[in-house]
Amino acid sequence: MIELDTELIYTPIPKPIARLRDLAYNIWWSWHPEAQELFRQIDPELWEQVYHNPVKFLREVRQRSLAAVVSNEAYMQHFNAVLQNLDSYMQSQDTWFNRNYPDLKDATIAYFSAEFGIHESLPIYSGGLGILSGDHVKESSDMALPFIGVGFIYPQGYFRQRLDHSGWQFAEYHKLNFADAPAVPALTEDGHEVVVEVELPGRMIYAKVYRIQVGRTTLLLMDTDIHPNNPQDRELSARLYGGDQEMRIAQEIVLGIGGVRALRQLGINPRVWHMNEGHSAFLVLELMREKISAGMSFDQATQEIQRHTIFTTHTPVPAGNDAFPYQMIEKFFWRYWPQLGLNHDDFMNLARQDQSWGPTFAMTVLGLKMANYRNGVSKLHGHVARGMWQWLFPGKSQDDVPITSITNGVHTASWLAPEMRAVFDAYIGQNWEDNIDDPQQWQKVYEIPDDVLWEVRVKLRKQLVDFARERTRQRFHRMGQEPPIWPLLNEDTLTIGFARRFATYKRATLMFKDIERLKAIINRHDRPVQIVFAGKAHPADTPGKHFIQDIYQLSFQPGLAGRIVFIEEYDIAVGRELTRGVDVWLNNPRRPHEASGTSGQKAALNGAPNASILDGWWPEAYDGSNGWKIGEEREYSNHDEQDWQDAQSFYHVLEHEIAASFYEERNEKGVPRRWMQICKNSIATTAHLFSMRRMLADYMRYLYVPAARSE
Ligand SMILES: *Cc1c(COP(=O)(O)O)cnc(C)c1O
Repeated sequence: MIELDTELIYTPIPKPIARLRDLAYNIWWSWHPEAQELFRQIDPELWEQVYHNPVKFLREVRQRSLAAVVSNEAYMQHFNAVLQNLDSYMQSQDTWFNRNYPDLKDATIAYFSAEFGIHESLPIYSGGLGILSGDHVKESSDMALPFIGVGFIYPQGYFRQRLDHSGWQFAEYHKLNFADAPAVPALTEDGHEVVVEVELPGRMIYAKVYRIQVGRTTLLLMDTDIHPNNPQDRELSARLYGGDQEMRIAQEIVLGIGGVRALRQLGINPRVWHMNEGHSAFLVLELMREKISAGMSFDQATQEIQRHTIFTTHTPVPAGNDAFPYQMIEKFFWRYWPQLGLNHDDFMNLARQDQSWGPTFAMTVLGLKMANYRNGVSKLHGHVARGMWQWLFPGKSQDDVPITSITNGVHTASWLAPEMRAVFDAYIGQNWEDNIDDPQQWQKVYEIPDDVLWEVRVKLRKQLVDFARERTRQRFHRMGQEPPIWPLLNEDTLTIGFARRFATYKRATLMFKDIERLKAIINRHDRPVQIVFAGKAHPADTPGKHFIQDIYQLSFQPGLAGRIVFIEEYDIAVGRELTRGVDVWLNNPRRPHEASGTSGQKAALNGAPNASILDGWWPEAYDGSNGWKIGEEREYSNHDEQDWQDAQSFYHVLEHEIAASFYEERNEKGVPRRWMQICKNSIATTAHLFSMRRMLADYMRYLYVPAARSE
């Protein structure tokens, strides 16, 4: 049979299922597995090939596969139910927002972020910050907030991680074909495409604005790869966190200043401005320029901006806060500050931070100074941030520094395994999703019979083992080899998960401090343990890459081989499989460097308890019954000692508490009674508190609503 070329380029969709295109262009599908099923069922192999991207899928699917499902009654029933669901979601007026703040429906909240982690098929995120923004946007849709996100589309995204034969990380970049993304050009009311214009040294740069529909919420994403930008400027937004500092400042200028202009061109006049981390903080300069040119005084304009602006800081690591040397700011802004009516020194003082190498213009300082609402992302991080930025608030004690905290959470529907959802539906009640942040309803978790919960946990672990094997097989296949260790992992073995950015403070290699001790623990014949790793190091982070290589090489060492595996390319898909499939989620950062962490919240929700240093969100969650603590709640002046103490604590907890509870006290059906209690405690104590629903309700109450109502 001859394939027509045109069939590969564009497939007409049969009328009864023509609305698959509507579905593909609303990322609502990304947190509705039943909607993804509609694509997968048409051609499961293609669905994997296009990496779960519905738009690409529809461009490549064969006509006869589409025709086949139209005559499948069960498929059509499912199709109609999903589309009906989408329609009633989009049209519903009975929403959280309308019930709580009907008077604020015109108070648009503009949320600026350098990254948005929505789905693996849209690689415009690198790690925790992006996942949080993506979840924030999805929940804003679920709650129906008047909310709009602003960022970049990054045609080459963040890098894809590959490991060579020795386990050394190298980066691959793939260019996104815009026709394959669920993005459409943003249009003004009279139908014109939106292109914003921002001045860079000696030239103008242009960014085209795209729109992505995330349920009820719109994301505006800019792209500079357009005519008439010069070749270098076309590359400006090609990659997330690529390039040198000069590229970075130019990106941030386009994000902050260009982002405000994009909103204005679309006729959107936000009441509330939220800078998610410092990358977008230049936006306040543009607001200032607007007000000054409208005749306001500098002081008046400053107060006006502060009243409606929120700044969230995410990093307690000083190097993680962008700060630019003065001469760079001079080069980029010498024509801008006169427009604010400022001279050089006054302009610099908006964001001055003195470093050992001289004064800098610091984005976090700019954000903190220009926003009346400031927050960290866990209680402990709030405390750390108040200490870190105390110098900005002379005369205040650390506790009185006006930086509050709202602890991060996760978007429940995005991270909950469908198998676990079915259990919640059955035992918590069909409408549990309407009340995610209600602690009371989660008490019903204790009504789930042990063997029901255990059966799901076993199934999810098996899926993870299959996934790890398949990813490993594919990787070796790519290198023209057979995997040296086979079979990899065991379906019935206690499985620990560790996945995160390989920044050194996260101490991914901590458990290898005493390798013989680790081997002895994980190879006990009555209580075996296996560990699944994943994570990327920033391309410029050589120590982080060494950590990855060390773990990779150790995973082939006798005594560890087959029990330790490193999965390449930690992304949302890998994160999803890992956080639902492991038995225990491990986190061992060097306290107090973890701002919050959210991966452990995903695991906890799925009934995989955490074993963690008391850092980030964990001190708020840990109660002695819902997981384990590693190390002590204290600070050390000596890193080596801290690492050693924490490693000893980890070994002890793993052997005597975790493995013991997992393997002991099993009933006649093999169900571990004590373990099931811990799993239930994990869900009942975390699912409400560390949900994005609770987080956004807090943002509304403490930040957005006061900022919206401020006169
Ligand atoms: C959840 C998630 C993160 C953030 O997790 P941390 O706990 O902050 O490390 C990062 N990357 C991916 C792919 C995730 O799914």
